[in-house]
Amino acid sequence: CGIVGYVGDRSAQGVVIDGLRRLEYRGYDSAGIALIAADGALAVDKKAGKLANLEKAIADSPLPAATTGIGHTRWATHGGPTDGNAHPHLGRTGRVAVVHNGIIENFAELRASLEQAGHEFGSQTDTEVAAHLLEREVADGADLTVAMQRVCSQLEGAFTFVAVDAHDPDRVVAARRNSPLVVGLGEGESFLGSDVAAFIEHTREALELDQDQVVTITRAGAKVSNFDGSAAEGRPFHIDWDLSA
Ligand code: GLU
Repeated sequence: CGIVGYVGDRSAQGVVIDGLRRLEYRGYDSAGIALIAADGALAVDKKAGKLANLEKAIADSPLPAATTGIGHTRWATHGGPTDGNAHPHLGRTGRVAVVHNGIIENFAELRASLEQAGHEFGSQTDTEVAAHLLEREVADGADLTVAMQRVCSQLEGAFTFVAVDAHDPDRVVAARRNSPLVVGLGEGESFLGSDVAAFIEHTREALELDQDQVVTITRAGAKVSNFDGSAAEGRPFHIDWDLSA
């Protein structure tokens, strides 16, 4: 129900956990995080229950230092609220991690055809097919942005995704269809959130997307495209709410 993404020079763990806390008001049953350390190691932790459960798990077993990360608070629709069904979900080899809000209506047929091709699934979620499909695209040589365009073109339903590829640690890619997603633009850092509350502590400069668009964030900013691969422009806006209110 809440989504956060970050790339910059700060601790991604700090930015992601703070962002998830700011999105807690949306309600959720599980929380999780994926970080890519500079050496390309992907680290994931996820727990059913409150964000405090995830924070305790991380305190007991610390994650590597990382400046790229994604996070999620889940409101289960497919598969019960368990640690295994919590997001992020990983592809077959653990190279791609993805978080998702919404529902993939055609996940069952996609899952059946992946299973026929030998993919094994570790969760009951609709989301896990997206992780396998994204990872198959990057393994075939697409960059994560193109992979996201191709995968979203095959999906039905309403979704926001945020994904990372461990082989490409300076990029976070997101997409939306009939589901919320905003971009935050800082100095040498960029953010994604299901709403601006996820990053308002860090930047007031934001970018609104249309539906059926993909956005790629790096330290240098954001690039927007359509699911067919054509370039697009986000709409910049300034957030002028009073944070103390
Ligand atoms: N449909 C996904 C699931 O059940 C995402 C739910 C959400 O929006 O948090 O895991």
